[in-house]
Amino acid sequence: MLAKKIIDWYSENGRNLPWRETSNPYYIWLSEIILQQTRIEQGIAYYNHFINEYPTIECLAHASEEQVLKSWQGLGYYSRARNLHTTAKYIVNNLNGTFPDTYEGLLSLKGVGKYTAAAIASFAYRLPYPVIDGNVYRFISRLYAIHTPIGTTQSYKEFELILNNLIDKERPDLFNQSIMDFGSIYCKPIGCDCSNCIFSEQCLAFQKGKVALLPIKRPPVQKIERYFYYFDIRWGDNPENIFVQQRPPGDIWHGLFELPLLETTKPIPQKELRKTAMKKLYDWFGVIPDTLNTGENMVHKLTHRTIKALFFQAKYASKPIKNPETMHPININDIKALPVSRLIDRYLSKM
Ligand code: SF4
Repeated sequence: MLAKKIIDWYSENGRNLPWRETSNPYYIWLSEIILQQTRIEQGIAYYNHFINEYPTIECLAHASEEQVLKSWQGLGYYSRARNLHTTAKYIVNNLNGTFPDTYEGLLSLKGVGKYTAAAIASFAYRLPYPVIDGNVYRFISRLYAIHTPIGTTQSYKEFELILNNLIDKERPDLFNQSIMDFGSIYCKPIGCDCSNCIFSEQCLAFQKGKVALLPIKRPPVQKIERYFYYFDIRWGDNPENIFVQQRPPGDIWHGLFELPLLETTKPIPQKELRKTAMKKLYDWFGVIPDTLNTGENMVHKLTHRTIKALFFQAKYASKPIKNPETMHPININDIKALPVSRLIDRYLSKM
């Protein structure tokens, strides 16, 4: 009953999205991983870019990690891009280039959780697995006046049970698209037109005047602050020479390129900035620069961290004779071809 009603609504009001016009699991997987990172409008541009750049899973598997990170640049959370690449290689090398066609098989892929497995299973193979994203959580929690905080393992199980009973077993693809679109377009976070809603009579949140209170969200995770002091180091007569290094494994932005960095656990007091920067440059190069300026302050917010960055600008008369092995001299124009974080991209675009 609910399934028919919502699919009928979708046939009139659903969104035309490029990944809904295909049942190719590779394209659907790409779209789902991209959409975990961005809104639909921006996601379409990235999706089109990826399927043009890597039209088959073999193309993605055979690309270099740097190339994939570069294609991903601007979406953030780069571990998703690395998982995408690892999974493509795994499917090509171990599964003969064929995507798994069961929910369990999909779930076993790196970077594929329950939501993504259900999306690919239903959209590509019409298997009856419900998708549960923020829009579905909102609609269902209001429809049944559920007060369990959303986004937890417990709430996922609870909502999955409800949706397993609601899903259209013949057209789970349509049902899932319908319920996500209804949550996104009609049962919006604020300002939904409940009086004219097709579910107004059965919606418990509307009947009880609790629409604005649901869904219940988890308390926000407290953000950690990190202090990044970057060094824009130039030398000689060519102002385009600069040092870069690659981020190490086990931390944010692994594999991306950045300027030489000093990270501290607390902000360096203003009066010690210059001395600390000089000491760091001396540690790296064995000589102090001819000039040192304190440049741009930037704040960069990530899901669980806030990066407070300050950029120093140092100038040497000639290239220092020795530099740490991890640092590489490069022409600033060549950085454009390398994957960098949005923070570094913002800084360089101002140069
Ligand atoms: S009545 Fe309002 S809260 Fe309930 S499903 Fe419709 S739009 Fe959502």
